[in-house]
Amino acid sequence: MKEPVGVSLCLLGIPCRYNGGHKQMKGLERFLERFSPVPFCPEQLAGLSTPRVPVQFYGGDARAVLEGRARLIDEKGKDLTELYITGCERALRLVTLLGLKRLFLKEKSPCCGVNVVWVEGRTTEGTGLLKALIEGRGLDIEVFVGDVFDGESL
Ligand code: SF4
Repeated sequence: MKEPVGVSLCLLGIPCRYNGGHKQMKGLERFLERFSPVPFCPEQLAGLSTPRVPVQFYGGDARAVLEGRARLIDEKGKDLTELYITGCERALRLVTLLGLKRLFLKEKSPCCGVNVVWVEGRTTEGTGLLKALIEGRGLDIEVFVGDVFDGESL
């Protein structure tokens, strides 16, 4: 039986991104041969529409948000921090409910980013909200960059 794993919905080619597009992962066929994906989009779970106004971090990445030192602000200046946290909490509930141990997430996204996110107009080393929540709670869940699956890295 294939291992069920969490995956950012847009990586499966579903157009749920802020701009109405998707980012289908390179190597999706190989990924599907190996895993049974459980897709989710934290921003849609937050109740946001698609397309939507993009957001970025101010003051630091998602770890800084959870420490109260940074915020997520959209291009119109609206603070959407709590809404984005809500979406990630809902995604994490799904992940823990199903006992998923590995997640493949879209890099650079405010919710799904793994090692790089947008902070004040620049791509910066840091994590998105979902990974920060997992780390902050010490959950036994591994998070991988899902943009490219070469089948060799795991
Ligand atoms: S929140 Fe995650 S799943 Fe949803 S569009 Fe952004 S990167 Fe993709």
